[in-house]
Amino acid sequence: MDATSTRLSLNVFGQLAAGYARTERMPLLFIGHGNPILAITDNVFRRTWVELGQHLPQPSAMLCISAHWQTHGTYVTLADPPRTIHDFASFPQALFDQDYPAPGAVDYARMTIAAVQTVPTHEDYTWGLDHGAWCVLKPMFPTATIPIFQLSLDVQQPAAYHYALAQQLAFLRRRGVLIVGSGNIVHNLQMLQRNGRVYDWAVEFDTMVKERLEAHDDQALIAYEQFGQAARLAVPTNDHYLPLLYTLGLRDPQDTLAFFNDQFDLGCYFLGDHG
Ligand code: ZN
Repeated sequence: MDATSTRLSLNVFGQLAAGYARTERMPLLFIGHGNPILAITDNVFRRTWVELGQHLPQPSAMLCISAHWQTHGTYVTLADPPRTIHDFASFPQALFDQDYPAPGAVDYARMTIAAVQTVPTHEDYTWGLDHGAWCVLKPMFPTATIPIFQLSLDVQQPAAYHYALAQQLAFLRRRGVLIVGSGNIVHNLQMLQRNGRVYDWAVEFDTMVKERLEAHDDQALIAYEQFGQAARLAVPTNDHYLPLLYTLGLRDPQDTLAFFNDQFDLGCYFLGDHG
């Protein structure tokens, strides 16, 4: 980006942001969304999501960074309203019948694009809400009245790219925007367990992530591949881990860290969240 377009972008950002009052810093969430069926059945994970929605401050808008919107390049949704995407197969019809008719958040999306100075971000009018987004946001805010937008994951980029991008979005937390990273810490679909057993490597990786989060050791979590075999098995592809890096980049030193839904499902989904 040249100097002229940077200045232009800063001006646009200033104009857009000026129209939105500063607020208390909104909480920040990473949610392990797990199996889509959790969204429509009674289970401990969904019950926690419902409870969260009842206790969180009412957001002006929500930004979801979901494992299930993978792109080449970084995109922001401007669709209004965003369509509910049923991006899964071999699930009961009841899951395909789900709809989450929340309005789009066009102004916040434009503000987001204008705020990012280091890499190009693009408008998108085709994506809506994938199941990484609506499966957790619908239980949290069932009335579907809060405007929503999504930011895509450029899965070609290294972990540090995502962390640095997220740091530029921290202002949204002071504009009433609830930012939700939706993925899983441990996610290996080739090694699902249906007998209740949990893999040692899943526990090892999960524990490492929790310890590094508590130690504010962001660099270790960015360089997660250094954790060897446990990391290779827990994160065979980076899509479900990357949303955590956005949460890390958006974290404020004064945030308090809390874990909830700190459990495994199918032996290796880690549904640990922090805010
Ligand atoms: Zn998923």
